[in-house]
Amino acid sequence: MLRTVIATTAVLGLATGCAPDTSAPVKVRALVLSSNGEYTPQEVELKTISDIVGLSGNVADLHGGARIVLDFNDPDLQNATTPESFANALLKESGRDVTANYITQDGVLWPADFHTWNMVTTYYNLERAFDYFHDVTNIPTADFKEPVRTYYFPEFVLPDVDKDPLKDNALYFSANESFLILPFDQLQRAPLSINAGILAHEYSHRVFNLKTYDAQPFPVALSTWAAGGSSPGANILKSFDEGLADLHAYGSTCRSAHGCDTRFLSTSFHGGKFGSVTDDRDLARTDRCMTQSLRDNLRNMSLDQFSGYEYVVGTLLASALYQAGEATGQRDVLLRSIVAAYDDETVATPGLQQLTRQYLTDQGKFTLAVAAGAIITHVTDLRLKEAVCNELMDHLQIPRDLLVGTNNPNLCPASAAGGTTCPPLGNEG
Ligand SMILES: [Zn+2]
Repeated sequence: MLRTVIATTAVLGLATGCAPDTSAPVKVRALVLSSNGEYTPQEVELKTISDIVGLSGNVADLHGGARIVLDFNDPDLQNATTPESFANALLKESGRDVTANYITQDGVLWPADFHTWNMVTTYYNLERAFDYFHDVTNIPTADFKEPVRTYYFPEFVLPDVDKDPLKDNALYFSANESFLILPFDQLQRAPLSINAGILAHEYSHRVFNLKTYDAQPFPVALSTWAAGGSSPGANILKSFDEGLADLHAYGSTCRSAHGCDTRFLSTSFHGGKFGSVTDDRDLARTDRCMTQSLRDNLRNMSLDQFSGYEYVVGTLLASALYQAGEATGQRDVLLRSIVAAYDDETVATPGLQQLTRQYLTDQGKFTLAVAAGAIITHVTDLRLKEAVCNELMDHLQIPRDLLVGTNNPNLCPASAAGGTTCPPLGNEG
């Protein structure tokens, strides 16, 4: 597909360029997944852009040429005492505004080089993710804070992982409140920034940070709970963050021309060593079960040791919730309830932020039942609540008596009986 795009660009490159009109909305071509599953140049409108050349607007601000190094032996980092100085110490080269090139044709801007295609599509996908969280999950515009600095093709070095800059990834980096769109190497079929579902997943991490972690660059609950040995609470938070990011990404695909896609990773992670990623995280699979060993890992491992398992537990959670939403025809209601569960000061229905604060000195009490309870209490429709309860009891093996009955806040209705898909793990909390 990329070869097609580059060829298209070369042909158009013969036309005469001119300075584009940059007042929003701007009509521009971007790479969009069409109903036949191919990425094709389509005319779209950027509604929030204020500078089409520098690709900045109310949703994001693209920045090129940065160098970001996260090296725990770096004296600059060790000497950093505030979140701001830590963020500054990470940024070895701050980079600069990007410069996009266009050709105007019939009032529509056509990207004139590969990076412009990639950057315009990145902005467009972030704008759609913003729209999803605004329109479907009802987050007010003011809650999104300032446009997200988005480092485009930065050199991102994690010396603990690799001495060379990382590639083939996109991430939300809460330490400096930014998205990183890394250069691609092996994922050439659809680089991650072109995959709208993947950018919605990353955007979901931003929303989770804003709401559950109260926008903290270094979430207190995570750093406190990860500080010594087993970190069941931190492992649960990470699992929820990843799983719900996939569920929201799925929800956002339902607004696209291509339609609802539980396998939205597939256009990027395809074949060979990447193929299994798509299958492992396909939300439509109904046979996933919590196992004894996974539950032991969740409870006993440190956050470092648990690395990787957050996706496994996250997919259990997300596919269970997916089934409840689809079976009742209440997908959007459920997605909205989930976001409402991130931050709620109401005493009777505390959000995840409030529960992590409540149990900050005793993460053993922030169990799967408690974390899932935050979602359950924010589902008001009884039929949907019952479905959510049943799926979570079944696939996550949360004991029924932790969710139903008088010894708990009556999270689930008495009619919720669990399910029969997964073999019972036994009842010890
Ligand atoms: Zn993620």
